[in-house]
Amino acid sequence: MAEITGSASAATKASARLYQRALAVIPGGVDSPVRAFRSVGGDPFFVSRAEGPYLIDADGNRYVDYVQSYGASILGHAIPEVTEAVSAAASRGATYGAPTEGEVLLAEEITSRIPQCEQVRLVSSGTEAMMSLVRLARGATKRDRVVKFAGCYHGHGDALLAAGGSGIATLGLPDSAGVPRGAVQDTLVVPYNQLPVLDETVACVVVEPVAANMGLVPPAPGFLAGLRSACDEVGALLIFDEVITGFRIARGGAAERFGVIPDLWAFGKVIGGGLPLAAFGGKAAVMQHLAPDGPVYQAGTLSGNPLATAAGLAVLGKLDAGAYQRLDATAADLAEGMAEAAEAAGVDVQIPRVGPLLGLFFSDTPIEDYDGARVAASNGRYPRFFHELLSRGVFVAPGAYEAIFPSLAHDEEVRRFSLAAFHGAFAAVAGR
Ligand SMILES: *Cc1c(COP(=O)(O)O)cnc(C)c1O
Repeated sequence: MAEITGSASAATKASARLYQRALAVIPGGVDSPVRAFRSVGGDPFFVSRAEGPYLIDADGNRYVDYVQSYGASILGHAIPEVTEAVSAAASRGATYGAPTEGEVLLAEEITSRIPQCEQVRLVSSGTEAMMSLVRLARGATKRDRVVKFAGCYHGHGDALLAAGGSGIATLGLPDSAGVPRGAVQDTLVVPYNQLPVLDETVACVVVEPVAANMGLVPPAPGFLAGLRSACDEVGALLIFDEVITGFRIARGGAAERFGVIPDLWAFGKVIGGGLPLAAFGGKAAVMQHLAPDGPVYQAGTLSGNPLATAAGLAVLGKLDAGAYQRLDATAADLAEGMAEAAEAAGVDVQIPRVGPLLGLFFSDTPIEDYDGARVAASNGRYPRFFHELLSRGVFVAPGAYEAIFPSLAHDEEVRRFSLAAFHGAFAAVAGR
């Protein structure tokens, strides 16, 4: 244990040196706060390369990777079809500022998987997709109010950052310094898995159809259908943030899996194949409010970037019905093995699963909302568990509020190795 938690042992020297240099020139040494090991203790390792289910760090240590760039990678890392598509695209030039066939092909692929999503616009991050959707929903309905659910993450745009933080969030106060009160005064935060009371001031209800940023919290039966009816009653638009669930929990994402059709969607992560790409879309009648056809402005220098569309198309090209079955079976096998390992160690856990998405809570009761997730995430067990797993060569997210992302590359052998590590880590947490 001690040799892993941040002390610069021989095995982490190169990472430690890079981290020291990073701290001098990058705030906190990381370009996204979740990458820091703040909530689990210790210092982050620096990745030098990755292949399939593995990350290899700057010191040559290899980890089975269940983060997969927080879901941006679903096939596994450096899959030949994807790297070949990206290098072929790069050889034709990186970006033009003029439209390309790749954008048309990717938009056609998305809309054919989800026929009710008639049009999409490509952007570069999930944050951008969600910021654009809020503006579009407000512009299209000529209303200002946005309803979101506590514990759901929609990127770091001001209006949606009134997010996950306790009583402050429920009061609609900013969760982050630098977000003016005015930016969130029309954002209403309500508990996940409870139907909100809406009125005709509401432009849109924004939801992760499976909450995957407070651990994994599946929608309660009837929750999504209830949101659909509640929105219809007052003429509000229903927005599914499928940045994680899209093209992951089914060929057509959450809408297909749960049979509830929103007005608008956000996609990201999977569809960029590891490159910066996201999308938002919905009914043509709503999307036509966007410039140049309509008055809602939205733009991007690198939107629909040719390298990113090439990567996205290569990934979606491999995600057929068989791939979804294999992903499902992979996650089911892991969930079962993890539950057995926890039980053998006498540790109470919840391992929610929705298709290929897994969660882990140290709790003896199922988690249904952010309040429950916070209790489970703050009982002190996760940091120890994280380091015990890491020292056994298995990397899960350095924070208790993230999902576990098995990929198509996590084959039988990789899973057996992982489950042995889970056994050891649960036993260590139990003090056995
Ligand atoms: C990751 C994520 C985002 C933000 O996407 P970025 O590409 O990181 O900006 C938005 N919504 C959900 C549900 C996410 O998981």
